[in-house]
Amino acid sequence: MNTSSNVDPAELAKFSDLAHRWWDKDSEFRPLHQINPLRLDWIASLCPLADAAALDVGCGGGILADAMARRGAQVLGIDLATKALRVAQLHALEAQTPNVTYREVSAEALAKEQPGQYDVVTCMEMLEHVPDPAAIVRACRTLVKPGGWVFFSTINRNAKSFLFAIVGAEYVLGMLPKGTHSYDRLIRPSELARYCRDSGLELRHTRGMEYNPLTRRYWLSADTSVNYMFATQRPSELG
Ligand code: SAH
Repeated sequence: MNTSSNVDPAELAKFSDLAHRWWDKDSEFRPLHQINPLRLDWIASLCPLADAAALDVGCGGGILADAMARRGAQVLGIDLATKALRVAQLHALEAQTPNVTYREVSAEALAKEQPGQYDVVTCMEMLEHVPDPAAIVRACRTLVKPGGWVFFSTINRNAKSFLFAIVGAEYVLGMLPKGTHSYDRLIRPSELARYCRDSGLELRHTRGMEYNPLTRRYWLSADTSVNYMFATQRPSELG
């Protein structure tokens, strides 16, 4: 049972129901597997992962958490979808991933328990599934050390992202189950930038993620009109 109010139980149920397929690279989770090397390399290019204390918020089955641990970070993955966490744990056991643990706890609750403990916090493809994304951004800001990095990724809200990320991905190409994303919950870069600013995180870099349905490939670019990522930093206390 989770006691956090910043949760949509229907969202958690969606991810729990599919959890057994999380590590199947040809399943609904194929897009996450495909973007993972791109986001991992981008993160690693900005902040060293070796020996870093890393937190992955909304880790799901652990695709990014596992990969960061393999780059040498000590990783905690948190989520509220119980089955997804079990799958993450099982995968770590089977794949013998070193230094990764998983916990069912909300970002807000962990922020009270472990403020300022992490060199790097990642929160990918998760903000668009919660009722109050700004509260998650604030929790991430509390969890990261002064001078540490917080990475977010989500989906922009405009006519193009509606066509590509919802109509295209869910209805035309069938890459994602119908109802994976709701338009109203998508987040414009200007909105995410405001949540970051209000919480005291400084936006350092932005990247778009583009997809070609013919080649079925993703790549990073400056185009943030559909999928995008933010690299933010908590100012160091001296700076
Ligand atoms: N971050 C992972 C998984 C993205 S899927 C990746 O990019 O590979 C979205 C995840 O957000 C799911 O695992 C879902 O259970 C989780 N989630 C949704 N609402 C949440 C909440 N309020 N607290 C924590 N996790 C949540």
